[in-house]
Amino acid sequence: MMVITNEEVLAIVRVIGGEQAAQIAQKLLKKPGLSDEEVAAALEIDVKQVRKILHQLSELSLVTYEQTFDKKENKRVFRWRLQPEQVIGVAKSQIQRILERLRLIREQITSSQFYWCGNERCRKYTFEESFDKFFTCPSCGGQLNYHDHSELRDAIEKKIRELEEILK
Ligand SMILES: [Zn+2]
Repeated sequence: MMVITNEEVLAIVRVIGGEQAAQIAQKLLKKPGLSDEEVAAALEIDVKQVRKILHQLSELSLVTYEQTFDKKENKRVFRWRLQPEQVIGVAKSQIQRILERLRLIREQITSSQFYWCGNERCRKYTFEESFDKFFTCPSCGGQLNYHDHSELRDAIEKKIRELEEILK
């Protein structure tokens, strides 16, 4: 079971929605039920921007709202609440996506050999590609040498295990 603190909830919201989303989430954690206008005033962010972010977060079920009617102002008011429990689910599915991507990269680097000129600006080539180019880098003219990926593979392997541990 994954248990996360408020700070972690905010960190996840920041990753998903950016800095402003995290600021909005923080306000709603402190004062659940704020209206979008109140959030905008408190953060000094344009209310349209606040609404846009709140709607993005609500599509992920990270926030919910309640519609109320302000009789004095004669208008509808949306009152927002963060749903921290949902953040865990969203975080898990994000981690799952990263994990899948890492597994794919692992598969790619273990199933093929790469050749590289060593120049950071140039790409790496498979054996077949290098053979076709007579082991000469088409970008800089340098020699394409076998590139050992074992360090990268180990790092990816380690990250995969870490993430699998979190999802347990
Ligand atoms: Zn090169």
